[in-house]
Amino acid sequence: MPQTSLLPDIAGLERQELESLLREREIEAYRARQLFRWVFKRGVTDFAEMTDLSKSLRARLPELFRVSRPAVVGREHSADGTAKLLLELDDHRRVESVFIPDSPGQTFCISTQVGCAMRCAFCLTGKMGLARHLAAGEIVGQVRVLAEEIGLLDARFNIVLMGMGEPLHNYDETMKALRILGDQDGLAVSPRRVTISTVGLVPALERLAQEPYMPNLAVSLHATTEAQRDLLVPLNKKYNIAEVIEACRRFPIKRRSRITFEYVMLAGVNDSREDAKRLVSLLNGIRSKVNLIPLNEAAGIPFSRPTDERVDEFAQILADRHLTVSVRKSRGRDIRAACGQLIVEETEKSAGQKLAAAMPT
Ligand code: SAH
Repeated sequence: MPQTSLLPDIAGLERQELESLLREREIEAYRARQLFRWVFKRGVTDFAEMTDLSKSLRARLPELFRVSRPAVVGREHSADGTAKLLLELDDHRRVESVFIPDSPGQTFCISTQVGCAMRCAFCLTGKMGLARHLAAGEIVGQVRVLAEEIGLLDARFNIVLMGMGEPLHNYDETMKALRILGDQDGLAVSPRRVTISTVGLVPALERLAQEPYMPNLAVSLHATTEAQRDLLVPLNKKYNIAEVIEACRRFPIKRRSRITFEYVMLAGVNDSREDAKRLVSLLNGIRSKVNLIPLNEAAGIPFSRPTDERVDEFAQILADRHLTVSVRKSRGRDIRAACGQLIVEETEKSAGQKLAAAMPT
């Protein structure tokens, strides 16, 4: 019997890749469609259960392929309906994935890395640093597990790449994952239902602009002067506001669509009337909407959340100048599932404690 982990993982292959691997092994290419339906639509990973395949094929497949599935090692449910899953990957590394109901649709918030290399000053995930990038199959795997757990395999849902990590820093695996998720014989997620959120890696934004599978774009701006953004988003020293905004101006925005600019609000740092006015002029001429995210506070994050009045006043200044603005309601804060709160304890001991805490009593 071959060592399982060295076999190609069906959960991380595009259908054309699977078709050519099947052909190389003298198996009909149309079997790829059947396999996709089992794995992605029905959540079946055991070849023995794939009853529309011949018995001999069912017996042969385990020697040729494997189907990975992240293991659910923790579940937490928030009072507001948000659910956070702690998932363990084949190498025992862990990531968090979040389900946010009625926001307005059903939304899955997915990670693209274990940790994150961007180290934004107000984000807990950034504190972990980057442990490793996720493979396409692991990105897709989070969606499969969430859809199975929540019972949404046959339903429509949205995907936001706003979990742990910076999707454009793991460009190839992220885009491959989106193509797998979009496959008509798989979960068939339309790109219109997917949003990539990025801190603004300009060369990757330029690549994204050429993609045939074009998701919605959200850009984490968070500041209106270069000096201010240098402090909050270290990547600004490499790709500054001016360059990020230029890349957004060139970005081919789909008809009736817009770029979302995310703006974390930090009391006394970037929440003044002047900031609001500068934000309006920065976005002048871009089909945009602004999503204000009042900081989710956490121990170790040296900033505080502005008052609701301050947030409303800021939003009003934008609205008065004809910008579409929304304030992100933070969901799942009681289970640390809100933006910037995803962090995975690295030691076995704390992971165990966390799991114990998540168990229903
Ligand atoms: N790397 C991507 C995805 C990050 S998470 C990006 O930078 O866009 C999605 C959003 O949550 C980002 O806008 C991020 O800046 C924001 N965020 C991070 N920490 C936060 C916190 N503590 N409170 C509120 N929002 C936060």
